[in-house]
Amino acid sequence: MLSNLVKLGATNLGLFQLDFRILTEGKFVRIAPTLGSIVHNSTMISMISEILEANGVQPDSEEISKEFEEYSSLQMKLAKYQSSGKLSISLPGVRSINFSSLITEMIHPSRVSKIFGKIRVVTSEHPLFFKSNETESDVRREFPRASLRVFMRNFVDKGNRDGVKKLTEELKKNTLEMIQDTENLAPPVKESMLKKVEAIKVTIGYPDHFDPPGTLDKEFENFDLDSTDSYYRIFQKLNRLRSEQQMEFIAGETPISPIKEVLKVNANYKRSKNALTVFAPFLDDPFFDITYPDYVNLFFSGFLIAHEIGHSVDANGLGYDENGKPMDGIRLEHVTEYGKQGQCLVDQYDNYDDPVYGKKMNGTHSINEIIADWVGHEVTWRAYKKMDTSKMLSLIGLKDINMDQLYFRVQSLLFCRERDTISLEETLKDVYPTDNFRVNGAYARVCGGVQLSGYITYESGEEV
Ligand SMILES: [Zn+2]
Repeated sequence: MLSNLVKLGATNLGLFQLDFRILTEGKFVRIAPTLGSIVHNSTMISMISEILEANGVQPDSEEISKEFEEYSSLQMKLAKYQSSGKLSISLPGVRSINFSSLITEMIHPSRVSKIFGKIRVVTSEHPLFFKSNETESDVRREFPRASLRVFMRNFVDKGNRDGVKKLTEELKKNTLEMIQDTENLAPPVKESMLKKVEAIKVTIGYPDHFDPPGTLDKEFENFDLDSTDSYYRIFQKLNRLRSEQQMEFIAGETPISPIKEVLKVNANYKRSKNALTVFAPFLDDPFFDITYPDYVNLFFSGFLIAHEIGHSVDANGLGYDENGKPMDGIRLEHVTEYGKQGQCLVDQYDNYDDPVYGKKMNGTHSINEIIADWVGHEVTWRAYKKMDTSKMLSLIGLKDINMDQLYFRVQSLLFCRERDTISLEETLKDVYPTDNFRVNGAYARVCGGVQLSGYITYESGEEV
């Protein structure tokens, strides 16, 4: 039917249209959705009736209204899906329509062999034509453990998990040393901080419970899907599996809730449990790889993990003990030297002249992230200074800079990006300081701390 419409010269084929675009890259046939043209009900109905009458068909107005309602509601549904406005050079991912043959139909049959090869096609990046990764995230949400299993089996070198584990322990040790070395901390406060960092529960990728081969597979032993199962039946079975897994979790047989989302490229610290989790996708390049020189893993992933450890002693974290229970009394301002350092960081951000927003920042609001960054820098620097890098591989193209410079360069790159474009209001809502501050502010070192050997600030990648 579509092909016949094209033969008749139609380019608007209902849900989509074929049109022509002249772009800087050249001339293209464009496949795009036909949306936003909701014709008024009565106009459309009388038009259809007239066409039918003119062709000798008696219109059934009730039938027409009913069909028109369906048409309008479909249009409304489709209108919810906005096009990104971007164009893709691939054909739509809709297997039931042969788009190439529709385009061929637009060419005079005698000219097809001559010009078809010269026709370039672009497709509007609309959900009508391309699957969004929504399906993928549905699967991840519904089958978190199975997704974890697939991910671990196919993408993660087991050595990476052990490597991140080792790195995390090392960072923890250096955090303890840093606290130990901090002068003028009231002894009970120091003790409670040390106890807390020492007690942080670390999970790398997945709890050790799932480490023995086959453990994750075993979770699905009783989950039988059949090719004849309806969508509804699959969900029914899935819900059943989930309740069984919940019961096992509640009974303490398994360590993570079956509905917990475990595939995030991230690490986080949970205050209420004094627990640090490094999620599985983190255990893969470009974040971490056991074959990278140790200093690469430390400069990049090490910082991110140490930042999370830093949250255990940030302004909020200080108020909770090693089991995640709130403690009375210990607040940043009560912790003398540490408190002074915290106040200095608050003031520094308050007075920071951000190139986009000016001196409008709120140090109190962002203090937890600033402290976490600060701990992240101090701890990775400590760990790096103990490392014998002389025998490690050097990086191609970066042999001319010394290791210290490389340290600053990599850490700066973590937050080095284009200037912020969001409004000041939105920026102030964010708990993170601006990226600019996370590089230039963090290394300005106006608040002291461990002596770093050199200051480097970056302005569009240039050393200043
Ligand atoms: Zn943070």
